[in-house]
Amino acid sequence: MSVETAARTRHLDHFIDGEYSPSTSGERFETVNPATGQVLATVSLGTSQDVDRAVTAARTAFKTGPWPKMSARERGAILRKIGDLILERREQLAIAETMDTGKPINESFDGDIPRAALNFHFFADYASAAGEECFTVNQLERHLSVREPLGVAALITPWNLPLYLATWKLAPCLAMGNTCVLKPAEWTPYTATLLAQIAKQAGLPAGVLNVVHGFGAGGAGEALTKHPEVDCISFTGETSTGRAIMTAAAATLKKVSFELGGKGANLIFEDADLDEAVATSTRAAFRNQGEICLAGSRLFVHEKVFDQVVDALVKRVQRIVVGDPLDARTEMGALISKEQLEKVESYIKIGRKEGKLLTGGERLAEFADGNFLSPAVFTGISNSSKFCQEEIFGPALPVIPFKFEEEAIALANETPYGLSASLWSSDVNRCHRVSQQLKTGIVWVNCWFARDLRTPFGGQKSSGIGREGGRKSLEFFSEEKTICYRYKG
Ligand code: NAP
Repeated sequence: MSVETAARTRHLDHFIDGEYSPSTSGERFETVNPATGQVLATVSLGTSQDVDRAVTAARTAFKTGPWPKMSARERGAILRKIGDLILERREQLAIAETMDTGKPINESFDGDIPRAALNFHFFADYASAAGEECFTVNQLERHLSVREPLGVAALITPWNLPLYLATWKLAPCLAMGNTCVLKPAEWTPYTATLLAQIAKQAGLPAGVLNVVHGFGAGGAGEALTKHPEVDCISFTGETSTGRAIMTAAAATLKKVSFELGGKGANLIFEDADLDEAVATSTRAAFRNQGEICLAGSRLFVHEKVFDQVVDALVKRVQRIVVGDPLDARTEMGALISKEQLEKVESYIKIGRKEGKLLTGGERLAEFADGNFLSPAVFTGISNSSKFCQEEIFGPALPVIPFKFEEEAIALANETPYGLSASLWSSDVNRCHRVSQQLKTGIVWVNCWFARDLRTPFGGQKSSGIGREGGRKSLEFFSEEKTICYRYKG
């Protein structure tokens, strides 16, 4: 798909029971290109009626359709095909993702879209290879622990990595024989709509994957979380939304998995490889416009190397190319919405008041219609400030000095969040000591964003409940049953 074709695409419908479908109410909303402010497409606005249609289709497919009864290998073949088709349509999907989110085309093309394909390829193989347990009491008594599909899953996803995160839930959910309703973020409905068509083309039976567009609170999202025929909710988004969903889901006692916000600490010790630490810390803070839950959004630097690191960091940050997301030279694109732009600016105002702005924090005059902000670096802000405690989810980085290792650990842990942290040091004992004391779901030692899809991924404290990845995803999307056999001998 060319950019022109993407821009001409005018309407995105729900996908229910194997077909595109408008809202029962006929209502629509608009999705806007964050880089231009222009309407990218109109979108069917889902209500509880549309959610009900989608859940009913998913329930019927679960009860009477072939999907839950197929072998893991048969399901895996279809999931593998979905992954293949995503790669075949990589350019189309990358353009759509970039026009919907404002992220640089290189990140979509080289990052999000291949990862979406990998999610399907990985879980197709992983679920086929997974075994179950047998506990032998003696020759005449064996207890089998088996996993069965759970039923109908609600998958609710955010706007920052739309296809990447939707497929991270979808692939294991489908691999385990479930059916589902996906509710993408209202800001980014585009690639989920295209994915539905891809899944159908790959041979996924009708009703197994349904997509309903619309709003979260008071809309399609909330209706899904309350629907009595939904068995589980896999949610990625803000911590406050996680709280609301947990309350809504309590009445029908749904199984939940929450991947929530983050405020990652990035610790640079005096014995680190500073060139590498600074280069990676720059990416960790500003990749995807800083709109990443795993961002290194608080940088703590040992006082001995503080000035050196800050100088090198500012120079690097000033070289980041901010601009047209569809231009392959662009390194930082537009923020998702005017609201998000204004939210980030409100923190920049706090930062200016409490600390010193070293660079950035300005709108780009040449792209006045888009939500562009130059990457900002601050010193002099306290870790206890709102700036360092709340998730800004944008390109604004505080740099804070520390003197002692214990102090660095305490600063890193002083936040309600506990998703990820990075540390940079050439002392292996220190790396071990510090990484054990950081209260986060993942710690990167001398790296950032390294992932192996087999490992558990998720947050401690207010950053989540449960883990995704490998076996953890398969466990979440299945019900465990013990069957005890006694033989007569
Ligand atoms: P969000 O506002 O919480 O929305 C996420 C999804 O939930 C959207 O589809 C949203 O619909 C829906 N939603 C909102 N309120 C709802 C409700 N009451 N009931 C049911 N659904 C509801 O999050 P976001 O702004 O899209 O994404 C940014 C957040 O996601 C950040 O906090 C980031 O850290 C987090 N995140 C976490 C991870 C992780 O792995 N831990 C990964 C990526 C992002 P609408 O779009 O219509 O509001």
